[in-house]
Amino acid sequence: MVKDLSHLLSDQSKGRQPSPLKSAFKYYGKDDIVFLGGGLPMADYFPWEKIVAYSPEPPFEDGIGAQPSVTGKSVVSEVHKHKVEEFDIPLARSLQYGNTQGNQELVQFLKDHTKMIHNVPYPEWDLCLTIGNTQSWEACIRTFCNPGDAILVEEFTFPSAVETARNLNVEFVPVKMDAYGIIPSALDELLANWDSSKPIPKLLYSICTGQNPTGSSLNEERRKEIYAIACKYDFIIVEDEPYYFLQMNEYETGKKTELKEQTHEEFLNALVKSFISMDVEGRVLRLDSFSKVLAPGSRIGWIVGQSALLERFIRLHEVSIQAPSGFSQSIVQALLGRWGQSGYVDWLIALRKEYTIKRDFTIQALEKYMPTEVVSWTPPIAGMFFTIVLDAAKHPEFKTKYNSDPLQVENAVYEHGLKDGCLMIPGSWFKAPNVPKSKETTFFYRGTYAAVPLETLGVGLERFANAVKAKFGL
Ligand code: PMP
Repeated sequence: MVKDLSHLLSDQSKGRQPSPLKSAFKYYGKDDIVFLGGGLPMADYFPWEKIVAYSPEPPFEDGIGAQPSVTGKSVVSEVHKHKVEEFDIPLARSLQYGNTQGNQELVQFLKDHTKMIHNVPYPEWDLCLTIGNTQSWEACIRTFCNPGDAILVEEFTFPSAVETARNLNVEFVPVKMDAYGIIPSALDELLANWDSSKPIPKLLYSICTGQNPTGSSLNEERRKEIYAIACKYDFIIVEDEPYYFLQMNEYETGKKTELKEQTHEEFLNALVKSFISMDVEGRVLRLDSFSKVLAPGSRIGWIVGQSALLERFIRLHEVSIQAPSGFSQSIVQALLGRWGQSGYVDWLIALRKEYTIKRDFTIQALEKYMPTEVVSWTPPIAGMFFTIVLDAAKHPEFKTKYNSDPLQVENAVYEHGLKDGCLMIPGSWFKAPNVPKSKETTFFYRGTYAAVPLETLGVGLERFANAVKAKFGL
């Protein structure tokens, strides 16, 4: 049985009523009712009869970059105004005002996918479509936080997520992390010593796999400990997981990248357990997105959680986004319907291969170019980001020229890198609000291996390494 968490809802969320107009929509399309109830243009007036999309065909042995024109194999998805294939969302429906939760074909595909991947351990779970994790997160804050409420965040986190919350007047409580993500004992200690005159934060926002910016990933043990802490202190875990499927084997120094074909079973078994997969109390909200696995411009994400909470999101969406674009829902579902669950897993396996190659190339380039006397790194096991850590105290002029301030050294190397033609983002830009000042002299840069091809990546890393060497006088 999931817990009733309605006491954690924000005032605005508690107060949301279903629109009486929306309640009349259940009669739309019924044969025996003449529906004069809504301003819905007739589908005959939509100027799209058919949309055709060409995509590569599973199992993608030739790699995901291999275009159908090269392999000669393609999946042709045709979506028509009226239903042709059972799994398609006809344009007459997707381009109409529609179901706020999402068209049932896509919702069903994602429910089957969620069941296969996470096997949510309680029956009353549900999901609703969103326009990506950016909007899902905004909806979470509106649904749970009143102005002045606090949320727990990783001490380095995604700046847009911070801005979203800041604009809704939410306070931040940073949680200590290391190269492997949030440190559970630090979270427990923080809450054990909580000032009892203030309410405990209602949400923990965590990018738990391939974290942005640190590239860290929480292992199953840590997730279990953090989940137990959430139950103990009665807060909700929001897992923002756009990078979940970009998981890889550990990097092995000196070993050539060998990409053994993975079976579906091997791939699925190797995925780290998500918070929602251990959520017996219904206190996890999982934010998933197609942005990093299909295309950011699809603007489709989804929230998974207990249905009583999701109902509040649907009320919010009725008066905000309504639903993701109908074009997008039809086109994405047309592809997924043709690939099937199994073809989609093939795609994810192929993506994993691509990112493993890029991750390994990156780490090998760091080994080749970076001066290890001042630079260190932990190879990521998921996501698109890697970080390099530097120690400002090793700079010969740390005290004299930079006033013993690591931030000044961080900025100097950043600017030198830019001048030499490589941009890596200073780690301090990702620092969550209210992180206490520390005496540590280390700092980091965030890079990505996602955005450019391998050759360009190599050029960039060599340039940045040279900038570090030049600045540190090596
Ligand atoms: N959350 C995190 C942690 C991200 O890194 C990003 C993209 N950079 C997003 C959310 C945005 O995702 P979406 O495109 O689904 O809105």
